[in-house]
Amino acid sequence: MGVVIDHAGCIGCRRCVEICPGNIIKLSEDGKAYLKRPEECWNCTSCLKECPKGAISLVLAPEMGGTGARLRAERKGGVTVWTIYKNDIEISSVTTNVLEANGY
Ligand code: SF4
Ligand code: SF4
Repeated sequence: MGVVIDHAGCIGCRRCVEICPGNIIKLSEDGKAYLKRPEECWNCTSCLKECPKGAISLVLAPEMGGTGARLRAERKGGVTVWTIYKNDIEISSVTTNVLEANGY
């Protein structure tokens, strides 16, 4: 598993930089986000939820959707839509209520 940032999709808004609890994400000279110390990422998914462009995804273990499956998150008002993609085709999705997140 590991976080991947889509260079082309990033608009350099810095939201992931500011939300990362490990201070792992930085902006490169071209204004795009990257993981400076990927080995220190603990897959908390905060950056996935924060990115307004859906440019950050989490590569899942093969037993979680098959080889190459990725998790993306999209905030929509008071909910977060979690979607697993494989080869850019949606294979599963679940919606969680942000205010009740600790109950899941
Ligand atoms: S998953 Fe969490 S620890 Fe890893 S880069 Fe994103 S915000 Fe930082
Ligand atoms: S939150 Fe998304 S768009 Fe903004 S800097 Fe991070 S990766 Fe780029």
